[in-house]
Amino acid sequence: MVLTFPGGMHVPDGKELTKDEPVRRAPVPEMVVVPLSQHIGAPCEAIVKKKDEVRMGQPVGEAKGFVSAPVHSPVSGVVKDVKAAPHHSGGKVLSVIIENDGRDVLFDGVGEETDPARLSREEMLARVKAAGIVGLGGATFPAHVKLDPPKDKPIDTVIVNGAECEPLLTCDYRLMMDRTADMVRGADLVRRIVGAKTLILATEDNKTDAAAVMERTIGELGLADARVAVAKTKYPQGGEKQLIKAVLGREVPTPRKRGLPMDVGVVVHNVGTCYAIYQAVARNLPLIERLVTVVGDAVARPGNYLTRIGTPVRVLLDDAGLAAAPSTLLLGGPMMGMAVYTPEVPVSKGTSGILALTRVAEGEPRDCIRCASCVEVCPVRLTPLDLSLASESRSWETAEHYHVDDCIECGCCAFVCPAHRPIVQQIRHAKAALRKIRAAQAGH
Ligand code: SF4
Ligand code: SF4
Repeated sequence: MVLTFPGGMHVPDGKELTKDEPVRRAPVPEMVVVPLSQHIGAPCEAIVKKKDEVRMGQPVGEAKGFVSAPVHSPVSGVVKDVKAAPHHSGGKVLSVIIENDGRDVLFDGVGEETDPARLSREEMLARVKAAGIVGLGGATFPAHVKLDPPKDKPIDTVIVNGAECEPLLTCDYRLMMDRTADMVRGADLVRRIVGAKTLILATEDNKTDAAAVMERTIGELGLADARVAVAKTKYPQGGEKQLIKAVLGREVPTPRKRGLPMDVGVVVHNVGTCYAIYQAVARNLPLIERLVTVVGDAVARPGNYLTRIGTPVRVLLDDAGLAAAPSTLLLGGPMMGMAVYTPEVPVSKGTSGILALTRVAEGEPRDCIRCASCVEVCPVRLTPLDLSLASESRSWETAEHYHVDDCIECGCCAFVCPAHRPIVQQIRHAKAALRKIRAAQAGH
């Protein structure tokens, strides 16, 4: 049986540019910039100040609120400042600037090994929370929140998301190939924490070698009720709801019905998140580094880099070298990545890729010709043309009527539109306008 979901499309993936390159260690810069907002939810509050000495792995930002995650120093050194600095969101965000002393002196307890079998569910959850782990597939939702569903939402299955459906990105692929045992151990801890019976490691059929390695690892670790599922390669297979549909055939209720994977008994975590969870629980390692794919037609030596959080994008581009001057820098993949306007933006927890491009295939937007190509590819079964037209005419109620909130911003519609309409930007605009209207109505 072919595991897939309705809608979506095939995109040339370009993964051959980096998938077989051995992972490189990114240079650790003299100055790191640690944003206090690297996750969905409330930003952290700085708990260090100028001139403070910090050690590697030391918390420098404290979580504020339940949906929040602390941030840690990726180096040892001295805090030079706590000030607004360029951020992947496009603006500036309060950040802790740390001068690296080059010694990597560890903070108390960091790296201490513990047998996870001796820890209770609550102790593991506390470790994940303290380590500042968020969804590393790009969603950056604090992991401890997802790991602690309400009692009336029993979880029977954990799906590990190794689809990596975005073209050009291969950091998840390399993690599945190179760090398989710890990733699978982390997935098993997730299963223990949420109390699920079944564990499914899911990937796409353009990564059958990764599927085979994971299958073998499940056997070597002797995990019962665990298996690998290989879904058809199709964008956006890595969307949580698309993956659940493909692997289990279950439909997650739409956002307008406030539906989440836990409503159908499922928790989904990205492969990198599972790896980080294992490091936090078994080795007391906070999230201070991640794998980042550096690629694009402007990059001379594309590859995957193990990168300290807070490393400016410029440092990675210098190391990979430029074959041409980039006109566009994207953080994330080509479909859902966000454009940034300066290479001084630091790598943060959600940075899966850095794309340096000399050109972007964008034509002049024209009137909609009602060809319905966008409707055919929408994986959420929306009518993107209606959303595009509603946003263009600032008819926010109409956009709401056409369920703009259900859009997962996958970019399929804009990719196929022969009229080059900027549908995703228009949708984001409509969502932002509706958020404002609702906040005003609620008196915020
Ligand atoms: S793909 Fe573009 S031109 Fe075709 S219906 Fe959708 S918005 Fe209109
Ligand atoms: S961006 Fe939104 S509207 Fe467009 S195809 Fe994806 S889910 Fe559908």
